[in-house]
Order: sequence, then C-alpha cells, then structure tokens
Amino acid sequence: MLEEMRLAYLLVFLLCAVTLFLGLGYRGLVSRKHSLCLSLAGIVLAGAAFLAAVLPGNHVYGATVAELPAQEKVVALTFDDGPNPVYTEKILAVLAEEKVPATFFVLGEQARKHPALVRKTAAQGHEIGNHSDRHGDVMRMSQAELAGDIARANKAIEQATGSRPRYFRPPHGFRDPMVLAEAERQGLTLVNWSVICRDWLNPGVDVLVDRVQQAVAPGAIILLHDGDGLKQTAPREQTVEATRIIIRTLKAQGYRFVTLSEALEQQK
Ligand SMILES: [Zn+2]
Repeated sequence: MLEEMRLAYLLVFLLCAVTLFLGLGYRGLVSRKHSLCLSLAGIVLAGAAFLAAVLPGNHVYGATVAELPAQEKVVALTFDDGPNPVYTEKILAVLAEEKVPATFFVLGEQARKHPALVRKTAAQGHEIGNHSDRHGDVMRMSQAELAGDIARANKAIEQATGSRPRYFRPPHGFRDPMVLAEAERQGLTLVNWSVICRDWLNPGVDVLVDRVQQAVAPGAIILLHDGDGLKQTAPREQTVEATRIIIRTLKAQGYRFVTLSEALEQQK
C-alpha cells in the first residue's frame, strides 16, 4: 500500500492537516502556540517530501543509484533524451575515438523512430537505459499510465537491441514510491546522477568541463544530454565538444570510464 503512495497525495494530506491545525487554533480549540507549531511541522514535512522526490541522490522513497561503488577511480558518462540522429552520432564518434564506453538513457518514442541508431550504440559497447517513453511527467501519471509508459520504452529498446534495459532514469530524476515500485516491477533499477552539468542551457564548453572538474569523484555518474525531450531541436554541440575534453581531462587524472552494468553488476 505504501509502495503505491504518490507524492501528490502526501502533499494534499499535509496541506489538509496544516489547514485543520490552523482552523483549530483560530477557533481556540487548541492553543495558538500548538496550532502554529503543528502547522509549521506540516509545512516542513511537505517541503522535505517534495525535496526527496526531486533531489537526485537520496533514498527516502526507495533505493536510487546516484553514484557507483568507488573502490577505484571510475566514472560513468550518461547521455539522456536520445537517440538524436545528429548529436548521438557525434557523441558516438567522440567515444569511439577516445575508446570509452558510456550509457545512453533513451526515450521509447525516439528509439522507435531511430532503432538503427540505438542498435549501433549498443553494438559499439555502450549501455542502453530506459528514460521513459515520451519524457512525460511520471509524477502525475496513474499507475496504469506509468506501467504502460515504462513498458513501451522497454519494448522499443528490446526491439532495437535484442536485450532488455536494466536501468531506468525518470525524466528530471523525479520519483516517488510508485515510480520506484513500478520500475522495480519491470526489472529496472532507478539511476540518477552525482554530477550535473546543466548542458541543456549551453553555458559554454569551458563551463561544462569546469562543472565536471568541480564535482567529479571516484564513482561519479555524470549527466549529459544527446537529445532534448521529444522536441529534439536544441543544439548539443557544446555537449559534444565538452565530452571530448571531459574524457581527456579525466583520463589524465587516472579515471577509467565504465558503463553502469560494468560497475553495478560487479558489486552483486
Ligand atoms: Zn530527460
């Protein structure tokens, strides 16, 4: 029952509780001090419940992978929102030149449009993860919608590559108990990130490289984008160029690049 809990229900419940406490205090049925304290506690709990859903690396609603077990200097590059015929190809070329693997969290709809590109990505030794079917808001879907969305993306990936994905990254990394439970039911581990570059804002290649440098540590999972939701119109040239420099810089610092499976399956 708790597994099916939605963040929205919890927030509505807490909002009702805050209103009730304020009402009781206003009518003098509880002391004003108690009324204010209980209301404040409700507001703080609601804020914490919201943050638990949107911050990428906490386990409040269930196990979320945000970094790799770091017995050695390994990092995982992850690219979301593809496949994109222009930028996925360019990133694949950089990864081939540098001879490093990465993980691509693809959208089911994009995978159905470009199955050959997903197949090629997997054939080059990269891992394919599920990033939902259409980059929808998983926090607002009913259980049936959520189950269907994740399953459609799984199927698109399996049809393109011949194998089922192991990892799910919800759009924006948002999750609540139902999202985590549904991912698990479909055999997927939820994976977010520990290093965010905000490459979708195109702040400049130097800024992207610097953000990785500031946050990287053994076991880091780095979030980048080869696509752009379902629109697929945003430029990703900076991401392509930054990827090359990030790889060379981290290699020079003794880091080794791994796919998620390589690092996480070893652990089991
Ligand atoms: Zn995304």
